[in-house]
Amino acid sequence: MPILVMKFGGTSVATLDRIHRASKRVAREVANGYDVIVVVSAMSGKTNELVGWVDETSKFYDAREYDAVVSSGENVTAGLMALRLQEMDIPARSWQGWQVPLKTNSAHSSARIEEIPTDNIMAKFGQGMKVAVIAGFQGISPENRITTLGRGGSDTTAVAFAAAFGAERCDIYTDVDGVYTTDPRITSKARKLDKIAFEEMLELASLGAKVLQTRSVELAMRFKVRLRVLSSFEDNNESAGTLVCDEEDIVESKAVAGVAYSRDEAKVTLISVADRPGIAAAIFGPLAEAGVNVDMIVQNISEEGRTDMTFSLPVDQLARAEKAMNAAKEKGAINFHELVADTDVAKVSVVGIGMRSHAGVAAQMFRALSAEGINIKVITTSEIKISVLIDRKYMELAVQALHDTFELEKA
Ligand code: ADP
Ligand code: ASP
Ligand code: MG
Repeated sequence: MPILVMKFGGTSVATLDRIHRASKRVAREVANGYDVIVVVSAMSGKTNELVGWVDETSKFYDAREYDAVVSSGENVTAGLMALRLQEMDIPARSWQGWQVPLKTNSAHSSARIEEIPTDNIMAKFGQGMKVAVIAGFQGISPENRITTLGRGGSDTTAVAFAAAFGAERCDIYTDVDGVYTTDPRITSKARKLDKIAFEEMLELASLGAKVLQTRSVELAMRFKVRLRVLSSFEDNNESAGTLVCDEEDIVESKAVAGVAYSRDEAKVTLISVADRPGIAAAIFGPLAEAGVNVDMIVQNISEEGRTDMTFSLPVDQLARAEKAMNAAKEKGAINFHELVADTDVAKVSVVGIGMRSHAGVAAQMFRALSAEGINIKVITTSEIKISVLIDRKYMELAVQALHDTFELEKA
């Protein structure tokens, strides 16, 4: 039997009624002749609640216990989905990550998948089971501890299963009917894309579009998984949703395909650091060791042997970054006059493979922002994206202005 992977996100399994509706979709695919692997998220809001409980209990928590707690939401929805399918006379059972076992490395709270053995589940399909319901987001480490794959990780579970089982397709059911030119919650002008290239989706995801976890796009690209994003709230036909596909399969040739944003950024400036060989290593080494994900970096032109170094990072890592910088200063590894932190910034990015061949995208972006009176604090670019750091209060305005200037509402 051909295999199909169907992933249901938090809002799609938020209540017993939604689980019922999702199970009817699964039943339809079983009737179409598929053996189905269903991957479920926790009910929406559940994982946030669990994370909150951990934070409240323990400030510098044991990451292994964090994973034990926050992975549990998926156990509930997986069991309920299997029960609901059984009620419909469809042979189904649930698997938690460790039962598969979905093997990961030991990087708790952002573990990477290392192996998914298929024999166990294939044997069950061989015995007449029609649906394997997998608790998304979770795995097991070499030390036999529960791990999680990072927020949004059920997408990655789904794509990894599709790759391991050679599934015909991996359908990601969510609360929007596909991938849009930008988050449809920010502007009603956002337009659904029928197709998007892996490279573009990868950039959009890593720059903040949470419709797919970045790692899931990476895996789909590497293992050539047919990846589709579609709504669990609407009826879908064959061509519904958005197909994430190879660049060659895209006909649209706009410079910019989409706009992404990341709200919760912070900016740190180390004022007056000695400008000498090795200074960047002396700053960013300790930050990396402290687990700080530095994103944008700017070093000013130096004056009289001293310079300012600015970098951006997720706002919830600021305390760790400050601690690491002050410790390095105390040790004499670096020397700065002052550390200035700005916690009210956001990153807005434009992405498109068309940028490789279109000139002037950056200039147009900066003009559109300046027309709205938005000041740019930091800029970074790569071959297919341009990102700017701005005051958070202008974030939505910036997304809308960029969406307008690049005429993304038009096909
Ligand atoms: P799920 O719970 O199904 O995994 P998520 O909340 O993780 O759903 O992702 C879906 C959300 O992603 C949408 O509700 C939307 O607000 C947001 N989103 C951000 N950027 C985009 C985009 N470019 N296209 C579609 N959705 C986007
Ligand atoms: N429940 C997890 C989260 O909220 C994983 C997921 O939904 O993909 O991050
Ligand atoms: Mg998600």
